[in-house]
Amino acid sequence: MPGAANDPYEVLGVPRDADQDAIKQAYRQLALRYHPDRNPGDGTAEERFKTISEAYATLRDPALRRRYDTLGHAGRGPAGSQPDFSHVDWRVIFQEADIPMDWSRRGGVPTSGNFVFDALFRGVTTMFRQAGLLPGEDREVRAKIDLATARAGGNKRVHLPGPLLCSACRGLGRDAGGVCATCGGTGILARGLDVDVKVPARAGHGTRLRLAGMGGPGQPPGDAYVKLDVDVPATARLEGRDLVTEVYVTPLEAARGVSTSVLGVRVRLPPGSYDGQRVRVAGGGVGGDLVLTVRTDTWRGLGRGVLDVARKAVDALRATPAHAGPPDRRGGKGR
Ligand SMILES: [Zn+2]
Repeated sequence: MPGAANDPYEVLGVPRDADQDAIKQAYRQLALRYHPDRNPGDGTAEERFKTISEAYATLRDPALRRRYDTLGHAGRGPAGSQPDFSHVDWRVIFQEADIPMDWSRRGGVPTSGNFVFDALFRGVTTMFRQAGLLPGEDREVRAKIDLATARAGGNKRVHLPGPLLCSACRGLGRDAGGVCATCGGTGILARGLDVDVKVPARAGHGTRLRLAGMGGPGQPPGDAYVKLDVDVPATARLEGRDLVTEVYVTPLEAARGVSTSVLGVRVRLPPGSYDGQRVRVAGGGVGGDLVLTVRTDTWRGLGRGVLDVARKAVDALRATPAHAGPPDRRGGKGR
């Protein structure tokens, strides 16, 4: 049974045989009357505006209208459920009926569907938000920080996606100087905001930093969480708060003891160190230790400068036509 209150003909006050033009005119009259700009913070008017807009969305579309005429309310959506308007492009509908809608004041143009009503009333008044209709949603963003920042702490610039409540005026749209310059009076930052997040020292992989009230707009606004990814070089890995890698020295250095730098940490290997030895440097990780395996691989233990010279010499030899590379070692199988 179609609920009489939701009968689109009754909602718009038009006869069942009304033509498209009459339907549009009726909708326009009602829409202007219950327009959110004219009734800021009035929940009843808001509901009414939604209802008449949905009624119009039903009757303006010949296929939808026929289904409604045949099946009643069930024709507008799955049986027993609310009619589904998620595929309706409300922008087109408002435009066609010549209903003014300033999207720039409403946190941006919605793409389609039910979002439109969120967007419609989002920027209207502080009264509406503070009436506490809905809490804002929590959001999580990820941020990559380097080892130095993870160890010592520091600032990290992070983009928080919009829309979110304007932090300059706390969503009020006005400050001491009048209209808030940051949000232009809407109380909403549609495109989000870049913020400098304070990363605490010894911030481990996966640390979550909470930015209160920086999530989705609402009453109360949601929180934003910044989840940290520590950017570790490919030669190392994080195990919990320990940083694990290898240190390459020559056999002679290992035997005599040597002081070197590993991932920004000063490391002193005692005399008598050996290949495969595990060395733990307290505080050298990210809130944990630096855990090293000593490698006395001669070639890799050589200074990089020496290696480069050697490689260049080899490359030069290969590039010389007189030395057209070594003979085919595979015994004539060809390449
Ligand atoms: Zn503002």
